[in-house]
Amino acid sequence: MAECKRCLLLESSGADTLSDIRQRISKLSEKEKAPQDLYLKRLEMCKECDELISGVCMKCGCYVEFRAAFIKQKCPNANNRKW
Ligand code: SF4
Repeated sequence: MAECKRCLLLESSGADTLSDIRQRISKLSEKEKAPQDLYLKRLEMCKECDELISGVCMKCGCYVEFRAAFIKQKCPNANNRKW
């Protein structure tokens, strides 16, 4: 099966990784965690970004579904920050 470049893990075959990420996110304190609406908005922006390859941001190497969960994190693309 071909990899979908613009897919989040949620939409691809990375189910084990996604499960691990969700478990890690669940351990964050409410203070650390981005509100759900902000989290989803961030992921929508990532989905429109050319730097997203199979759930990974090519600017930082992070799984965006993990990075976006932290309230204090920012999009790492300093020249074209999306969130
Ligand atoms: S550069 Fe920013 S918007 Fe693009 S995939 Fe990375 S975190 Fe998402």
